[in-house]
Amino acid sequence: MIIKSDWHIHTESSYDASLSLNEIAKNAKEFGFKKIGITDHANFNDEKFLSDLKNSVTSVKEFFKTHPEVVLGVELTPIEKPEFDYIEKTGTREGYVPPVMNNPYEIELAQTKEQLISYGVRYAIGAAHWRVDVPHAKQLAPDVSAMIKEWYRQQMWLACDERVTILGHPWYNGKAVWYEDFSVIPHSMNMDIAAALKENKKYVECNSGVLCSPKASEKFRIQYAEFLRELFEMGIPVTYGSDSHNEYTDTYLAAEKILASVGFSDGDFSEIADEHLW
Ligand SMILES: [Zn+2]
Ligand SMILES: [Zn+2]
Repeated sequence: MIIKSDWHIHTESSYDASLSLNEIAKNAKEFGFKKIGITDHANFNDEKFLSDLKNSVTSVKEFFKTHPEVVLGVELTPIEKPEFDYIEKTGTREGYVPPVMNNPYEIELAQTKEQLISYGVRYAIGAAHWRVDVPHAKQLAPDVSAMIKEWYRQQMWLACDERVTILGHPWYNGKAVWYEDFSVIPHSMNMDIAAALKENKKYVECNSGVLCSPKASEKFRIQYAEFLRELFEMGIPVTYGSDSHNEYTDTYLAAEKILASVGFSDGDFSEIADEHLW
């Protein structure tokens, strides 16, 4: 058994998820998982997202009393610094107009490390989800080279940020431009990200939503598993994340098959060490 714990699960506290803690704990026990990390979203610094996080904190803390295998985490995503600043000033995202700038926007995360620790959050997954380099980037048609450049920028930034414990779903992308052939991403970029993760003592996530995505080709799956294996062999600990939102199924079994084919075996996947939990 390669996968023995799951560090990336969403509950009904997240705006886009519906799983209850009871269902998660019941299934995790069936799967033989020793630890389960709850990582609801905290995308923006407005009331809506912070109330998702606060609901998550309250319910996980209560649940922890009877289920000590549960660890409270959070999933953070890079957002545009001008939008973060606007929300800080006005309290809402409403009315925000992205400024036209010559340079890519600076990046920010919704909360400081001090704020997260004050809620009782013990670790954070930092993961790129969309472009934040140009105005209205979410609406742009896919431009492969711009997207690769932007994902690289965000992932390098996350690998160096003190709030990030695990680099979540590296190269995940809803538009799946590289899910046919992962080699469109320059190997040197992955080596830069690996060096930053190692230097800053971060974990990298094997996310079954990427590895086993129905959008991914067979070729991609092997290439992606080999990428994770290369990082592992460089000394970067790998955690598993199912990234479950609405059902908690045994996708780890499909992930294990692919992982075993590139050399992963029992004991290779990590829990977050106590010294790395806040
Ligand atoms: Zn995510
Ligand atoms: Zn997630």
